[in-house]
Amino acid sequence: MNSQPILSLQSVSKSYGTIKAVSDISLDIPKASIYGFLGPNGAGKTTTIRSIMGILMYDSGNILIDGQPLTRDQLDRVGYLPEERGLYRKMKCIDQLVFLAELKSVPRKVARKRAEEWLERLELSDWAEKKVDALSKGMQQKIQLAATFLPEPELVILDEPFSGLDPINIELLRNIILEERDKGCTIIFSTHILAEAEKICDSICLIEAGKKVLDGNLEKIRKDYPLKTVKVIYHNEEKPAEGLPGVENMELKDGIWKLAIDSGTDTDLLLDKLRETGSVDLFSANRPSLEEIFLNEVHQLRQEVTA
Ligand code: ATP
Repeated sequence: MNSQPILSLQSVSKSYGTIKAVSDISLDIPKASIYGFLGPNGAGKTTTIRSIMGILMYDSGNILIDGQPLTRDQLDRVGYLPEERGLYRKMKCIDQLVFLAELKSVPRKVARKRAEEWLERLELSDWAEKKVDALSKGMQQKIQLAATFLPEPELVILDEPFSGLDPINIELLRNIILEERDKGCTIIFSTHILAEAEKICDSICLIEAGKKVLDGNLEKIRKDYPLKTVKVIYHNEEKPAEGLPGVENMELKDGIWKLAIDSGTDTDLLLDKLRETGSVDLFSANRPSLEEIFLNEVHQLRQEVTA
């Protein structure tokens, strides 16, 4: 992966009247990567995305593509799938795709060929000559996705791309995102579906109340994140001994002991101690999931605000 960021946000802020929707956010998004933009409702994701796309004027800071401010001409290099979908309902699907591609400077013949390929890739070839009106919400979402990728942009921004899609189509979309990344495209997307983000993101940024909470390489974030619990099953269903090193409390759920541990606990030593008092069938000290990190960070921040 190339380390030169394709997109940089430098201390970007945006308020709506007294509401600080985005507060001093700085990010570097690596080229040819998949970047998840995560945060609870109202965190400021859409405001940030609209600022990047030049749809909104941000109040202060800089947004740079390849180190340069985004100009109108450069917008052809960026594909954008907005949160609110907007297609011409009376137009045939194929004509819609060709029309939108031409707006992005793709010659008509090339646009038509690519539109046919995209319809096939999205399993919508049978719908090419049908009007958008006749399509389900999920199908319209896929048409809009095809329109976003069809001009072959270097950078694609997808606002909530999975919303309204069933698990089969989520998988289809996930594979498309991975394939396009492998061809060199950078894909940024916002989502609430953390399990999806976890499956495909190279890097993430978590924002809450307009502020960046954490960002960077997802694997590194998970590796560096303090372990909070380990799971234990004893062969003879005994209770783990009291006073184990680093263990703050324990609870039994569905036959599995969940041990809350201090950050910095030596899990090898803990396992040795557990073995001294019983026969251990399962000892799981897995890294926290993205969902656990997300919930933990957001709760922590909200507690600090109300304290
Ligand atoms: P969601 O996940 O619910 O789509 P989001 O992370 O995309 O949320 P934004 O839509 O960027 O969040 O909103 C951030 C904050 O700015 C919220 O408090 C929202 O109420 C406020 N906001 C957004 N758009 C406007 C607007 N046009 N006028 C006033 N306030 C706005």
